[in-house]
Amino acid sequence: MVVAVFLGLLGLGAARAQDSSPSSPIVMVVHGGAGTILKRNMTPELEASYQEKLSEGLLAGYRILAAGGSSVDAVVATIRIFEDSPLFNAGKGAVFTAEGKNELDASIMVGSTRQAGAVAGVTGIKNPITAARAVMEATPHVLLAGKGAELFAAEQGIELVDPSYFFTQRRWDALERAREAERVEVREAEPEKENPKGSGGAFGTVGALALDREGVLTAGTSTGGMTNKRHGRVGDSPIIGAGTYANEHCAASGTGHGEFFIRWAVSYDICARVELQGMAIDEAAELVINQELKQVGGSGGVIALDNKGNLSMPFNTEGMYRGYIRDNGKPVVQIYK
Ligand code: ASP
Repeated sequence: MVVAVFLGLLGLGAARAQDSSPSSPIVMVVHGGAGTILKRNMTPELEASYQEKLSEGLLAGYRILAAGGSSVDAVVATIRIFEDSPLFNAGKGAVFTAEGKNELDASIMVGSTRQAGAVAGVTGIKNPITAARAVMEATPHVLLAGKGAELFAAEQGIELVDPSYFFTQRRWDALERAREAERVEVREAEPEKENPKGSGGAFGTVGALALDREGVLTAGTSTGGMTNKRHGRVGDSPIIGAGTYANEHCAASGTGHGEFFIRWAVSYDICARVELQGMAIDEAAELVINQELKQVGGSGGVIALDNKGNLSMPFNTEGMYRGYIRDNGKPVVQIYK
């Protein structure tokens, strides 16, 4: 009898454990940069390339999540696909500094533990997001910059490339246009305005958010920064709280004029409103992007995701490459307003 009750309790315990077993919806949200992205400036081929690449990235992350993998693995896998594509201003397609070099930034943050890692101003790391993850997992630090970040990446066996790997004609042309308009502030020398073929602007940063079966949120961002930026300029993308943030409630990744995202602590601000004010994710993200930032001329957009799987993708520019995928495994990709 006692044994039966005991076994019964064990059974109950097991059933309870099963009830509370991971059952969170899985979601991936991505962006590939915000800016002057107009349909009339886009060729059908270029538009299709963006759609395919965004879907490929979403599906890569989704497969990991669907197999019970972690949101960190999903975010890194997705961002690496974008970094390896010349379409985005991250990794291979990074924009040029005023001196004609490429200096890349990336960061990642895990909401459940608030662990974070980032690299800034790196010139020879093929996938900066992988280096950011290694900073998070293999050092007691959050942000490594320049040479130190590169030496660390080499030590970790992370793939290094010659800086010439990052050369693309398209980004070089964008630099020349920005140089011609030298007196103009960097952000106003956006190529798409002048370029009828819509070659992609100074914006084009990539970001990914994931919610895994365990309910853990991760956010990641990777960029080449802004065309014609000063040597040594670091934007918001590797700054935790500015370009990237995640906590137990919310994850966010931004793209746009980095100086504003830093000063307005955009990603943290959105998540703080969700956590502390109980705002809905959409309300918080819209308010920060389309009111606060817009009022001061901070152009850009953000993707945000909460721990229930609600998501938001607001921007105050003409367009933002963006998309999401949920449990059903069907990627949804959008570009224009
Ligand atoms: N936020 C990035 C930076 O300022 C640029 C971008 O999103 O395109 O470095």
